[in-house]
Amino acid sequence: MTNRTFTMLKPDSVEKGNVGAILEKINASGFRIVAMKLTQMTRRDAEAFYAIHNERPFFGELVNYMTRGPVVAAILEKDNAVEDFRALIGATNPAEAAEGTIRKLYASSIGENAVHGSDSDENAAIEGAFHFSSREQF
Ligand code: UDP
Ligand code: MG
Repeated sequence: MTNRTFTMLKPDSVEKGNVGAILEKINASGFRIVAMKLTQMTRRDAEAFYAIHNERPFFGELVNYMTRGPVVAAILEKDNAVEDFRALIGATNPAEAAEGTIRKLYASSIGENAVHGSDSDENAAIEGAFHFSSREQF
């Protein structure tokens, strides 16, 4: 599904009360919400979700961070969704993120960077299915 992407508003966004402001920006940028829920990942979930990074030095911290509280998981729809959403969130490191991007506005560090965005159509489909059954997608 080339017009969909998957996002999580990460635990720091929920803790800081930034969920409303971030969703506002997502809506204003033309994304339609296909599925959404507040959910908490187990360590097993986070290790599987980020399996591609399991050899990286930050993996343990990443799993701690992503499991310490709930996230808002969502599937979003728009033409060119994956690329446009990556542009909206900005670079992984907020210090390098463009002005006005979600990470520039709301991330505190390269680790605690407020939001996830899928990096390919293939991963968007895998990640969406990780969190949502077909009955939860509208
Ligand atoms: N991350 C980190 N340190 C790094 C790189 C990444 O803690 O040096 C974390 C950060 O939360 C990031 C996630 O691991 O969002 C996944 O990394 P990736 O390179 O896939 O960045 P993204 O696709 O999220 O921009
Ligand atoms: Mg990534």
